[in-house]
Amino acid sequence: MGSTLAALLTSLYILREIEINSPKASTMPPQRTALQDTAFTQAPKTGMAIEARGLSKIYENGGYSQHALKAVDINVPVGSIYGLLGPNGAGKSTFINIMAGIVLKTSGSISIWGTDIDENPRQSRANIGIVPQELNIDAFFTPRETLDMMAGLFGVPKSERHTNKILDMVGLTEQADFYSRRLSGGMRRRLLVGKAMVHHPPILVLDEPTAGVDVKLRQRLWDNIKLLNSEGVTVVLTTHYLEEAEALCDQIAIISKGTVIAAKSKADLMASAGQKTLHLKLKEPPALPLSDIFTGLDAKWQDARLSIRFNPISTSAVDILNMVKREGHVITDFSTTERNLEEVFLSLLQ
Ligand code: ADP
Ligand code: MG
Repeated sequence: MGSTLAALLTSLYILREIEINSPKASTMPPQRTALQDTAFTQAPKTGMAIEARGLSKIYENGGYSQHALKAVDINVPVGSIYGLLGPNGAGKSTFINIMAGIVLKTSGSISIWGTDIDENPRQSRANIGIVPQELNIDAFFTPRETLDMMAGLFGVPKSERHTNKILDMVGLTEQADFYSRRLSGGMRRRLLVGKAMVHHPPILVLDEPTAGVDVKLRQRLWDNIKLLNSEGVTVVLTTHYLEEAEALCDQIAIISKGTVIAAKSKADLMASAGQKTLHLKLKEPPALPLSDIFTGLDAKWQDARLSIRFNPISTSAVDILNMVKREGHVITDFSTTERNLEEVFLSLLQ
């Protein structure tokens, strides 16, 4: 992708074009249709790319109702890679689809790059590029045609299109002129990423971006997401792959049954869950049960090792070593392990 500056300049141009080309423009009050040029040059004053307040969704299907989102608050800081992490059915796609205008919220509010989706749906949608979970690609167009069409839809003039760059970024240069029905699942998903980027939005949202993408290409997609982010694009992605959130995201919200159960920086999330364990080999096994001093520390005698779980924010490993020595034990060896996000995640879902 080109530089962020080039992207921003193009965006300004696109916004004017949308306004001019929109068939609805003349039928709506001017104050509602004027797409703001400033949307892309100025980050929202709040510092939040996306702000959801008390967002709720109840699906009603013939007498059966499903409460998919329950008064969700989410703040996505400008410039972050934000992971919406949760098991299947948690409500992640519902959240994304509300932003995309595919699903109507039941209550609450959401603002995208400073634009409330109710007040100005067109502007808020122009502020974001969304890659949906469903692989909805027209099989009879080539990737190049698909990207060109999408750019046309957003009013990007031909001279401002970066079709080749986008094809290269998503690794579809070779397949650029194949019918899309010949693309594999992974290639289709990458084409969707390209589609979401044609209008250079400051926010890119990816719903389960690597579902069905093989390992090598997954790494490439991650690299490209990081690259885009380093150029200033705020990224939101949903995933049920913990390793994906751990590898990519700097902010994580864990969502379960329509409720946000934790929303923190990845570092805080891992630290707050007390994720370190100190493993000690002792010259003599300790008397069991372990003395009171250990019970406050979450200690276990297991596999001929004394394993003590602790929170590195409040306790240091050295303090624990000293404590064990004061109890009269001789330490012959020690090591530490850290909990990964998977364990943190599971402990929060319990
Ligand atoms: P996720 O993306 O986290 O897997 P979804 O947002 O797709 O979760 O779904 C959240 C809940 O809402 C699930 O229980 C799902 O069955 C339900 N749901 C999603 N879409 C619809 C729909 N169109 N009609 C009824 N229920 C739905
Ligand atoms: Mg989903």
